[in-house]
Amino acid sequence: MAAPRPPRLDAPAEEVARTAAAAPDWAALATAARGCVACPELAATRQHVVVGDVPASGRPRLVLVGEAPGATEDETGRPFVGRSGQLLDQLLGEAGLDRAEVAVLNIVKCRPPANRTPKAPEVARCSGWLRRQLELLDARVVVALGLSSAKWFLGPRTVLATVRGRPHDVDGRAVWATYHPSAAIRFGPKGAPRAGLLADLTAVAASSEGTA
Ligand code: SF4
Repeated sequence: MAAPRPPRLDAPAEEVARTAAAAPDWAALATAARGCVACPELAATRQHVVVGDVPASGRPRLVLVGEAPGATEDETGRPFVGRSGQLLDQLLGEAGLDRAEVAVLNIVKCRPPANRTPKAPEVARCSGWLRRQLELLDARVVVALGLSSAKWFLGPRTVLATVRGRPHDVDGRAVWATYHPSAAIRFGPKGAPRAGLLADLTAVAASSEGTA
């Protein structure tokens, strides 16, 4: 299927959302997103638009959503492949999940320079891609990794400690919020974030059995 024309330089969020909504399938969305230059600073400094990983079937058991690509992700064009990604893969395995059966996405698809926090207009623009991705994947179980992602799904006043450990209904999806793997690295192997992330992934695995 034909891909829609990518959003132009400094395009408003509405234009990105319209373009994403016009993508008939994952391949068309990926092609359009890779040409997106809506965020001028990110488009000028990125190496790759990190669209996301999806299982070959196109029907993931669950969808993991982080904040934005880091340096390794920008170099390779794939999400969660640096240190955080390696820990994530390890904890998915310990929880009884295989990365090949899950989708891995970010809210913002282009690396912010020096890993700064994405700016509000960047999040607003890139949200159009993520919303369409969740539709195309028919995502029924979502895991928000880290506070930024938790706030995207559950609202700006979200406090991670109070929303963890149970699913929240968002537009008919079961949304779980948990620690970002980078927090688990920062606090070390005996730190609370690593244990919490593993516990949450284990609970999600149990709840998502048979949903792929
Ligand atoms: S961050 Fe998203 S909206 Fe901004 S240029 Fe990259 S793909 Fe486009």
